[in-house]
Amino acid sequence: MAAPVPEPAPEPILEVRGLVKHYPLTSGVLFKKRTGAVKAVDGVDFVLRRGETLGIVGESGCGKSTVARLLCSLERPTAGRIRYRGEDITRLSGKALKAVRRNIQMVFQDPYTSLNPRMTVGDIVGEPFEIHPEAAPKGDRRRRVKELLDVVGLNPEYVNRYPHQFSGGQRQRIGIARGLALRPEIIVADEPVSALDVSVQAQVINLMERLQAEFGLSYVFIAHDLSVVRHISDRVAVMYLGRIVEMGTDEEIYEHATHPYTQALLSAVPVPDPEARERRERIVLSGDVPSPAAIPSGCRFRTRCFKARQRCAVEVPALAVPEWFRSEGGPAAHDSACHFAAEREPPPGPAPRREPDGHGAANAQ
Ligand code: ADP
Ligand code: MG
Repeated sequence: MAAPVPEPAPEPILEVRGLVKHYPLTSGVLFKKRTGAVKAVDGVDFVLRRGETLGIVGESGCGKSTVARLLCSLERPTAGRIRYRGEDITRLSGKALKAVRRNIQMVFQDPYTSLNPRMTVGDIVGEPFEIHPEAAPKGDRRRRVKELLDVVGLNPEYVNRYPHQFSGGQRQRIGIARGLALRPEIIVADEPVSALDVSVQAQVINLMERLQAEFGLSYVFIAHDLSVVRHISDRVAVMYLGRIVEMGTDEEIYEHATHPYTQALLSAVPVPDPEARERRERIVLSGDVPSPAAIPSGCRFRTRCFKARQRCAVEVPALAVPEWFRSEGGPAAHDSACHFAAEREPPPGPAPRREPDGHGAANAQ
């Protein structure tokens, strides 16, 4: 028998390169003059692999929803590319655009406002079939809608009820059923549990995990809180002012964060164990998030950073694997956009792997 071949990484289903969305700022009523731009998304790169979940986390206003709308082709980027199965989808129109939209569906944040209160649950879940009639013959839609309700754990007999007759968690299940109707390959969930009670959040996340396995879905799962995405994400990207500042596997991000912003966010995540809470150092960032219409020069995080130095004001840090990390054989899949990402304690645990000849050995100590 041949030696087992290592399993190849799943193919990228979505590749995002240099994604930018600027909203022009104008003054004057009659003769509008462009006076600047809100840089909502300002250079975002990532890859989503088939079947994986990429968590995107960041404070309100950092550009998460704008990224979500761009991924779902609900808006066109100012610059950059989104490749879906290798094809650039940012310039599509007509039929081709419609076909792509069918395969990349959005689940919205607030199940209280995203469902039309005057439509029955059946009409809401079946609405995608009105936009894409080819997806299901008319005579089969009712059955498909009931099946979708069943799949998300709702009683199919509720098909004639209205949104207000459901709890928040049930309403988000309705939103998820609608997102699944066209059997998409990718679901972009924009803060799907942020409006829900903590006790209900876990149920909805568990449902989404089950559906992912059942239908082979790839997820972009957005949240403003690192603790929410931890369980569901394979990898996590942390956003600040329109950019990803750190990205890596969930273990890398939660156990070995190197970007000061991620470290600050992690220090604010609630810890149930009181002893661990005692031991933990809380990092309080200075000042407020700058306006996306006036992004600081160099590193955009520097105005709030406890490590900031002269270099940070003049040089934009690239999102890359820190040099220090590479030299110690750290994982290649952990990017940090910080000039001083190397300045931290070595990770606890076994000593870093060293080359037999001593080359590439740790230069720390
Ligand atoms: P998040 O989802 O992370 O809270 P958003 O993507 O909604 O962030 O917004 C990012 C920034 O872009 C915010 O400053 C917001 O006010 C601005 N913005 C979003 N959409 C528009 C728009 N259509 N026109 C102008 N500014 C916008
Ligand atoms: Mg948002």
